[in-house]
Amino acid sequence: MLAWPAPLLPTLPGPGPVLRLFDTARGEVVATTPDRVARMYVCGITPYDATHLGHAATYLAFDLVNRVWRDAGHGVHYVQNVTDVDDPLLERAERDGEDWVVLAMRETALFREDMTALRVLPPDDYVGAVATIPRIVVHVETLLDEGLAYVLDDGTGDVYHDVAQAPGFGEESGYDEATMLALSAERGGDPDRPGKRNRLDPLLWRGHREGEPSWPGPRGTAGRPGWHIECAAIALDTIGMGFDVQGGGSDLVFPHHEYSAVHAEALTAAATGEKLPFARAYVHAAMIGLDGEKMSKSRGNLVFVSKLRGGGVDPMAIRLALLSGHYRTDRAWTADLLTTAESRLATWRRAVVRDTGAPAAPVLAGLRERLADDLDSPGAIAVVDAWAAATLRGTGDGTGTGDGDTEDGAPAVVADAVDALLGIDLFGAALQDG
Ligand code: ZN
Repeated sequence: MLAWPAPLLPTLPGPGPVLRLFDTARGEVVATTPDRVARMYVCGITPYDATHLGHAATYLAFDLVNRVWRDAGHGVHYVQNVTDVDDPLLERAERDGEDWVVLAMRETALFREDMTALRVLPPDDYVGAVATIPRIVVHVETLLDEGLAYVLDDGTGDVYHDVAQAPGFGEESGYDEATMLALSAERGGDPDRPGKRNRLDPLLWRGHREGEPSWPGPRGTAGRPGWHIECAAIALDTIGMGFDVQGGGSDLVFPHHEYSAVHAEALTAAATGEKLPFARAYVHAAMIGLDGEKMSKSRGNLVFVSKLRGGGVDPMAIRLALLSGHYRTDRAWTADLLTTAESRLATWRRAVVRDTGAPAAPVLAGLRERLADDLDSPGAIAVVDAWAAATLRGTGDGTGTGDGDTEDGAPAVVADAVDALLGIDLFGAALQDG
């Protein structure tokens, strides 16, 4: 599937430091340990609606991961999926009397536009679930052949993974059974369905239902795949086991990331006899709220990136507003947040068009140090704020109390650092403003 165009990425002097991130499975901040090419999988959208600010915040957090790794000298193999067939997509198409394929294509196109406008580095592999179905079928057949999956005995043809035989089950989220049962019921699982061996067994394959699209399935049973096996199959196809970061919103901690990992680990054990971890770290971005509530479809309180853009809001201000909070902190979107970001952007732009400014080296070092520390974007922004204030005062020391050194060409270096590390282009609108 086509991704979106890559923004220019300036190269900065010298390599940045090792990136440390909070790993949900270990419950602490750990150093990432990528090989020459770092490998990252971030769960993509189900394209039934436009990109809201909660989505945007998640993809911006992992865009920082991508940028910090590249600055540290790594290549990055970034994979993202599109859940282009799933219950919410089919339900929305049914509600609106629209072809589900057309709906998915339109919303995926809009997502690409939003990501391009926000200057998110595109994935190297952008993979749709539908295109992956033939490989998913092989995987489900393998789990059936190994006795690790079973067909429900009610004539539906639905296939479940038997988690009692999955030794790593629970290692990603660390949740107890009661929590898992509650979240399963809340987030698309079916813990109370009769006939399952274990209430927490996840659906691998859904047999054909009247009015739903279907494909040839395991052992000749037509239907469509479960959600978690899609991401397991796509990751196995593209970056393989033991990749560096599995990313997504915090609502994917359970069940989605737990089950994707369990499926892939079971398939790998079946093929090689080895128990290898799916990912080295599971990293989750917090939720964005509005008016005191989590932004979500069910609450109907979504703010769309495309609506803001359509209303003339600079995408760089949206990006800066979302990065002004830490990615692991649930936070609210407010009009004030956007106004503050617009004003900050204007200040930064006034500073970077100067020929001389406060020295650039401490800014570059500060940005790198803050972002490598579990993506402390508010700390990184404070570093640039101090530089811009000192530069606009014409003093170089950043304290406003003395007349420290200024440096020719520093503003251009800072602009490159802000672009490469925070993904914020400071020149586009500055030139228009004259
Ligand atoms: Zn996923």
